[in-house]
Amino acid sequence: MKTDVAVIGGGPAGLAAALKASEQAKVMLLERENELGGILPQCIHNGFGNFIFKKMLTGPEYAHHFMGKVEKSDIDVKTETAVLEINEDKTIVATNPSDGILEIKAKAIVLAMGCRERSRAQILIPGTRPAGVYTAGTAQRLINIEGVMPGKRIVILGSGDVGLIMARRFILEGAEVEGVYEIMQKPGGLTRNVVQCLEDYGIPLLLSHTVTNIKGKKRVEAVTVAKVDKSMKPIKGTERVIPCDCLILAVGLIPENELSKQAGVVMDEKTGGPVVDEHMETSVPGIFACGNVVHVHDLVDDVTMVSEIAGEYAAKYATGEIERGKEIKVVVGDNVRYVVPQFLRSIDMDNVTFYFRVKEEDKNVKVIISESMAIFEKKERIVKPPEMVKASVPSELLKGIQNELRIDVRGKYEK
Ligand SMILES: Cc1cc2nc3c(=O)[nH]c(=O)nc-3n(C[C@H](O)[C@H](O)[C@H](O)COP(=O)(O)OP(=O)(O)OC[C@H]3O[C@@H](n4cnc5c(N)ncnc54)[C@H](O)[C@@H]3O)c2cc1C
Repeated sequence: MKTDVAVIGGGPAGLAAALKASEQAKVMLLERENELGGILPQCIHNGFGNFIFKKMLTGPEYAHHFMGKVEKSDIDVKTETAVLEINEDKTIVATNPSDGILEIKAKAIVLAMGCRERSRAQILIPGTRPAGVYTAGTAQRLINIEGVMPGKRIVILGSGDVGLIMARRFILEGAEVEGVYEIMQKPGGLTRNVVQCLEDYGIPLLLSHTVTNIKGKKRVEAVTVAKVDKSMKPIKGTERVIPCDCLILAVGLIPENELSKQAGVVMDEKTGGPVVDEHMETSVPGIFACGNVVHVHDLVDDVTMVSEIAGEYAAKYATGEIERGKEIKVVVGDNVRYVVPQFLRSIDMDNVTFYFRVKEEDKNVKVIISESMAIFEKKERIVKPPEMVKASVPSELLKGIQNELRIDVRGKYEK
């Protein structure tokens, strides 16, 4: 089989990339589940689409807008199709129940495989191995799609957004939530979710705490929680046993990049995703990436916007219309943990949006983008590690750049 652009993953990133690419090229969209939408069909809370649609949609509503457009397009959609292999020459090996093994030769590929949750094995909680330990996303799927309650008395470990949203969801479904325990000194999720999902429902959030043991033979019967010191080690004598029948883990998301690595793209160890330029093209010419496979996003609107760029330029690559200039590296400076894109190659768009996260919370700071001198500054009232920061820089300010570009978050501005 042959196509101009093959998009792998049918979540919001893949849908937006496929739709945009289909304006210029022949597109195939490959999704391993039996429906499109990615994580969104199970996110039945609202909070999606605030920027793009100027209203708070639910996940399914947001996904259906794009799924409807895909249905009307001439994109060749293959669901129940898991991609097993991508080679550097852009040959894709996939499998589905009707075709068996498929070999697809694409001129360009968009990686949009999303991310997965960290599990108990990755955070090494000791104790027995009973039923009743779930990741937050699995619990969300069980409740919202399968109609099954994973437990009645819940302890949540980790205060990432998925855990916060599930704390509220359990209460709404009549379960008791004993508390959300977070190893760090600050919550891991968005402030809006701490307020709307915990504070509004009186659910305790215990910072600098972790789970040190799980008890129970067949089913979880209790967990032990303890305070941790500054180096995140449990403090002796602070242990408490909390009876419960379910432990929910919301301990982080990891971009799903086994295929990307196989295709030989250079990875960024800070984001866990490929390094990309401003067109979302990876280090392998013609392989693009977007959405949570690149770095974990807070808001789906940002996923849609960058994925449209990936789709547009993947189509341009496939039809031979892409030009690249000198490579300019984007370097992380003061109080910046990572930045995407990691390098610039063309600067042929109206503006380039840099997405980044800070290392530490700070107030009334300036985002400064500089070569040898500052070329762009932006004020931020507050920056926090869980909340992605954006800076859209007009391309005319970037055009003369010869060397590295640096992003710092520092200095104070007068209020
Ligand atoms: C619980 C939760 C709550 C959220 N709440 C909000 C909110 O309130 N507001 C908001 O704006 N955003 C929210 N988000 C964030 C937003 O949903 C995500 O940023 C967005 O869904 C990411 O889109 P994606 O397409 O990159 O990934 P996904 O939605 O994860 O889609 C990836 C797709 O790729 C497919 N795939 C993976 N590997 C393969 C393969 N090998 N072959 C074929 N297919 C493959 C997967 O099956 C999946 O369908 C939330 C996210 C979660 C998890």
